[in-house]
Amino acid sequence: MQRFENARAAALALRPDEPVYCFRPQVLKADAVQFMGMFAGKTAYAVKTNGEPIVLKALVEAGVTAFDVASPGEFAAVREVSADAEMLYMHPVKAQSDIKLALEKYRIRVIAVDHEDEITKLTRVVRALDIDPAAITVFVRVQTKGHAAYELSKKFGAGPAYAVELGERLARTGYKVGLCFHVGSQIEDPDTYERALASADWVRNRLSFELAGLDVGGGFPAEYGHDPNRKKIEMPSLGQIMSRLSGDLKEYQFDQMPLVAEPGRVIAARCLSLIVRVLLRKGRRLYINDGIWASLSDSWTGKITLPARFIPDPAIRSRNGSEKTIVPFKVCGATCDSVDILSRPFWLPETVDTGDWIEIGHIGAYSLSLRTHFNGFYPNTFVEVITPFDEGDAPEGFASLETMAE
Ligand SMILES: *Cc1c(COP(=O)(O)O)cnc(C)c1O
Repeated sequence: MQRFENARAAALALRPDEPVYCFRPQVLKADAVQFMGMFAGKTAYAVKTNGEPIVLKALVEAGVTAFDVASPGEFAAVREVSADAEMLYMHPVKAQSDIKLALEKYRIRVIAVDHEDEITKLTRVVRALDIDPAAITVFVRVQTKGHAAYELSKKFGAGPAYAVELGERLARTGYKVGLCFHVGSQIEDPDTYERALASADWVRNRLSFELAGLDVGGGFPAEYGHDPNRKKIEMPSLGQIMSRLSGDLKEYQFDQMPLVAEPGRVIAARCLSLIVRVLLRKGRRLYINDGIWASLSDSWTGKITLPARFIPDPAIRSRNGSEKTIVPFKVCGATCDSVDILSRPFWLPETVDTGDWIEIGHIGAYSLSLRTHFNGFYPNTFVEVITPFDEGDAPEGFASLETMAE
């Protein structure tokens, strides 16, 4: 992989017409190490966030030893980079053949359920493979209520009373039993984890046995930009969220049992930025060479304002307006699809023009993993970049990134 000091250097050297991913392995490792330092239990990186081999490999090098996986493709991706990393199969709804593969070939011994039929499937496989149920920890996924940019509480999870029933059934069969939840991605309310812990506590107090662990899922927010035209969501810093979580775990007396977290976004977001080219400027619209069917689908569904930095093409000699005037541009994606328009504008100098580049920051989470081949566009060019996006040069066209409140 070619290495550059920053994205500007890469853009000016390569003059790319196709999108270029700028990978920052040191940033990824630092963010993983930082999270592990702030969470007292086991950190199981959620592979779906970004399962690229270079990302998984860097995480293993950073000391990540556990991964949250959901499919045969993810089992294989983790095995590829580590022969002994632990895998936690935390998808609540699974094909029986996938359960068999997980238990038999990949020797996975941690699994999540939220329905009795999932227990039936699991037990069928456990009996057929002659595994002692006591060797398996089954996490019952408890439903939660909260506010996240991506709400997942409605799709999965057992209501608290039903979770008690599932727990008792699992314990009777001889499994070790834990509780888990996943509050959705990019939480927007710092009380979210406490509410989920209160539900888990309610369930725990009605169980006739000791829990083997608690898994608090993912959802930890990454830093994105802010659209000056919108009301700002005031969020505490990650450090504050994590210390609040550890206080709450203590208060609910979950701190004495094995704990797991499944962070994805918060670890992967900063490790990649993306250089895109302005294929056409039409008034206040920019047509770029990427979009919602490639790297930018997550920002579209989550209505996230991505931080953008202007990389002017020095070959453009005359420009209209002032570099100092930052204005919103509507951003249209590369495909012919009419929905391929970003849900939030990019804030850039009014001088931006056809042929310029834009570096879009903090897109390491749910960008590569959600790329499609739609319309024949499939960005897949990578360079390594040394300087973190947020430590880049003068904040030219960098209007939309604001650090969260300290
Ligand atoms: C997606 C997912 C995660 C990761 O969520 P982030 O918001 O990226 O941290 C963790 N656990 C489960 C079960 C998930 O589905």
